[in-house]
Amino acid sequence: MSKPAVIPRHTDSNGWWNSLAPPPVPRSLTGRVRVRTAVVGGGICGVSATNRLAELCPDEEICLIEAERVGYGASGRNAGFMLNLHSHGAPKQLEILRRNMQLWEAGLNSLRRKVESWQIQCDWSEAGRFYGAAGPDGEKHLGHIAETLDALDLPYTWQGRDALEQRIGTGFYSNGLHTGGNALVNPAALMRGLAQHLPANVTLFEESPVTELEPLDNGYKIWTPDGEVIADRVVLATGVFLRQFGIATAHFVPMATYGSLTAPLDPAALSVLGTGEEFGMLGGSEYGATIRLTWDKRLFVRNYFNFVPGAPASRGRVAEISQMHRRAMAVRWPDLSDQPFEHSWGGSMAFTRNNGTVFGSFGPNLYAVLTNDVSPMTRGEAAGSLLAEYMENIDSELLSLQLSIPGPSRLPPRPFLDLGIRLRHGYLHLIARDEF
Ligand SMILES: Cc1cc2nc3c(=O)[nH]c(=O)nc-3n(C[C@H](O)[C@H](O)[C@H](O)COP(=O)(O)OP(=O)(O)OC[C@H]3O[C@@H](n4cnc5c(N)ncnc54)[C@H](O)[C@@H]3O)c2cc1C
Repeated sequence: MSKPAVIPRHTDSNGWWNSLAPPPVPRSLTGRVRVRTAVVGGGICGVSATNRLAELCPDEEICLIEAERVGYGASGRNAGFMLNLHSHGAPKQLEILRRNMQLWEAGLNSLRRKVESWQIQCDWSEAGRFYGAAGPDGEKHLGHIAETLDALDLPYTWQGRDALEQRIGTGFYSNGLHTGGNALVNPAALMRGLAQHLPANVTLFEESPVTELEPLDNGYKIWTPDGEVIADRVVLATGVFLRQFGIATAHFVPMATYGSLTAPLDPAALSVLGTGEEFGMLGGSEYGATIRLTWDKRLFVRNYFNFVPGAPASRGRVAEISQMHRRAMAVRWPDLSDQPFEHSWGGSMAFTRNNGTVFGSFGPNLYAVLTNDVSPMTRGEAAGSLLAEYMENIDSELLSLQLSIPGPSRLPPRPFLDLGIRLRHGYLHLIARDEF
C-alpha cells in the first residue's frame, strides 16, 4: 500500500495557463469506478501513455487521474522547447546520444502530428532555437554544442554578437548559434489540447489527487478524496511525485526551476528587441537563462535550479526568484528594466545522474514512467506511448531502443545527497553567473 505524503498543489501563477481562456469545469472523481487500466498523473508521460493505450485497447475502459488540471503541472509550466536534441558537454557517448535522439525525434514527430491533425492551438512554431554565451563557461559549452552538432551532421549557423544584436536587440551575448529541428509552444495549451482529444474510451478525472494505492488480489484500489477506482492495472506517471509511491526513490532528484512571463509588449517595448520576431534562446552554459519572445510578443525568462525534496515552491520563493528574472531581462535589455512580469511560477523536474529513465514494470500489473532532464517533453511523449506498447506486448524497434536506455543509477543516501547537490549546483551556478 502506498500513501503519498506530498500531493502537488501549486499556489503560484503559471503564465502559460493563465494567459489562456478559462478551461471547462473539471470532472473530478466521485463514487466508485471500475476500469481495466488507471493512469495516475496527467503530464506528458501520462497523457501520452493513456492516449496510446486507448488506441491499442479500444474496447477497454481507461481512466486518467490528475491531482490538479492537465496543463497545470510541470508539463504545462515549462519553457515550451520541444527538443529533437539537447546536450551539454563535449561530445562523448555519441552512440547513446544517437539512440536518444531517435526517441526525442519520435516524440517530437508524434506531438507535431497530434497538433496538426487535432488542430491544437498552442502557438506551435518551428522557429528553431538559439544558444547564447555571455562568459567563459557559456563560450566553452557553445563550442561543445557546435562539436556535437557537427558530429551528428546537423546544420547550424554561428550568430556572433552583431548578428544577435540585430536579431534580438541585445549585445549581451558574446557569441551564439542557431539551429532547428525543435518546436516552440505554449506548453499549457499543448497539454490542454492533448487532453481534449483523448479517445472516447478514456475518462479524465481532474482535481482528484490520489491519496492511496492499495494492491488487491487482482489489481488495485485507488483512493481520491471523494471517490475510488478499481483497476486491473495501474500506470504511475506522476513526475517527480513518483517517489511518493515508493518508486525509484533513490534514483532521481527533484529539482525546481522557475519562469516569468510579461504581458504582450507594446510597440515601443517591442522595438527594443531587434527584429521583434519570435525567438527561443537557451543558455550555452548548463545553468544559463532561457529566454523567449513568444508569438504573441510576451517575454519569458527562466533561470535558477534548486533541490526540492518536498512540495512545490511557495509563492514567497517564486517572488524572490522573479527578481532574478527581472535582472536577467534588465542586463539584456536595459530599456525594459521597468517592464513588469504578469506571472511568475516554479515547477519541478527529475534529474538523474546518468540521464536514465524510469520505464517499465514495477510490480504485478504496476507500471511507471518518468522523463528526465534532457529533452524531457519529447522524451516523455515517446516514453509514455512506448510504455503502452510494452504493456500490450507490441514489439518495435523504438521500444527496443527505449529498453536499451539505462535506468537511472542509484544516488547516495541523504544527507550526503543534499550535500553533493548543494556543492555541484553551487559550482554550476557560480561558473554560469555571467549567463544568468
Ligand atoms: C520552468 C520549467 C522549464 C522547463 N523547460 C522545459 C523545456 O523547455 N522543454 C522540456 O522538454 N522540458 C522542460 N522542463 C521539464 C519538463 O516540463 C518536465 O520534465 C516534464 O514535464 C515532466 O513530465 P512528466 O509527465 O514526467 O511529469 P509532470 O508533467 O510533472 O506530470 C505528472 C503529473 O502527475 C500529477 N500527480 C502527481 N502526484 C499525483 C497524485 N498523487 N495524484 C494524481 N496526480 C498526481 C501531477 O499533478 C502532474 O500533473 C521544464 C520544467 C520547468 C519547471
